[in-house]
Amino acid sequence: APARHVTARVAPLGSRLILVLVEDRTKERRVEAVRRDFVANVSHELKTPVGAIRLLAEAADEAAEDPEAVRRFAGRMLTESDRLSRLVQQVIELSRLQGDEPLESPLPVSLDDAIAVAVDTSAIDASAKGVTVVTGGVGGLKVLGNEEQVTAAVANLVANAVSYSERDSTVLVTTKAVEGATDGNVEISVVDQGIGIPTDEMDRIFERFYRVDPARHRSTGGTGLGLSIVKHVAATHGGDVRVWSVEGQGSTFTLTLPQHSPDHPALSTTTQEE
Ligand code: ADP
Repeated sequence: APARHVTARVAPLGSRLILVLVEDRTKERRVEAVRRDFVANVSHELKTPVGAIRLLAEAADEAAEDPEAVRRFAGRMLTESDRLSRLVQQVIELSRLQGDEPLESPLPVSLDDAIAVAVDTSAIDASAKGVTVVTGGVGGLKVLGNEEQVTAAVANLVANAVSYSERDSTVLVTTKAVEGATDGNVEISVVDQGIGIPTDEMDRIFERFYRVDPARHRSTGGTGLGLSIVKHVAATHGGDVRVWSVEGQGSTFTLTLPQHSPDHPALSTTTQEE
C-alpha cells in the first residue's frame, strides 16, 4: 500500500515538473524569436537609407561638373539621412520601452505641453501639405506618467495623422477626462480626414515595422515603428490605444492614460453642498 501511494504522488509531480520546463522554454524561445526578428528588421531597415546615401554620394561625385545635379543628389541625401536619424531615434525609444514594465516613479505631465510639442514637431510637414492641426477639448489636464514618453506617443499620432491626411484637410487633437474604474483617465484623440485603414489591417498596424502600404511608405518617410511606440507607452502607463477608421474618410486614434488629479477644492465643496 505504501508503494502504491508513493507512485501516485510521484507521477503528477513528475509530469508537472516537465510541464513547467516546457512552458518556460516556449516563452524563452518566443522572446528570443521576437528579438531576432527585431534585430533582422532593424538591420534591413538601416541598410536601405545607408545604401541610398552611398549611391547618391557616388552619383554626386560623378556629376561634379553639373551643379544642378549635385544639388538634386544632395537634397535626396538629406531626405535619406533624415529618415535614417528618425529610424535610429525610434529604435532607441522602442528598446527603452520594450519590457512594458510599469513606470517606477510616474510624475504629473502637462497634456497641453505634450500636445504643443507634438504639434510643433509636425508643423513643417503639416504646412507643406496645407494640413491645419487644430487642438481643442479640456485644457489643463495632467497625466500621471513620463513626460518624454507621453510626448513621444502623442507626437507619433499627430505625425501619422498629418502624413496620412489628404491635402488641405484638418487634423483635430482633443483631450477629455473620463472616469476609470477606480481612478480617472484622460483621453487624447487624434482625428484625421485622411486615407483611413482597412478593417482587416487595424490590429496589425501596431506591430513593429508593419505598414499597410509599404510602397507609399517610402514617400512618406515613415519607419513603421511609430504605433508600436504608442502601444508600448500606453502599456507602461497602464493605459491603452484604440483606433476607429473608415477607408477613404479618415481615422481616429484614442490614447487613454491615467490622470493625475490634484484635489479639486472647488469640486469637493460643490459635492458637500449637494
Ligand atoms: P509609420 O512610420 O509607417 O507611420 P506607424 O507604426 O506609425 O508607422 O504606422 C503603421 C502603419 O499604420 C502606417 O504605415 C500606415 O499604413 C498606418 N497608419 C498609421 N496611422 C495612420 C493614419 N492616421 N491614417 C491612415 N493610416 C495610418
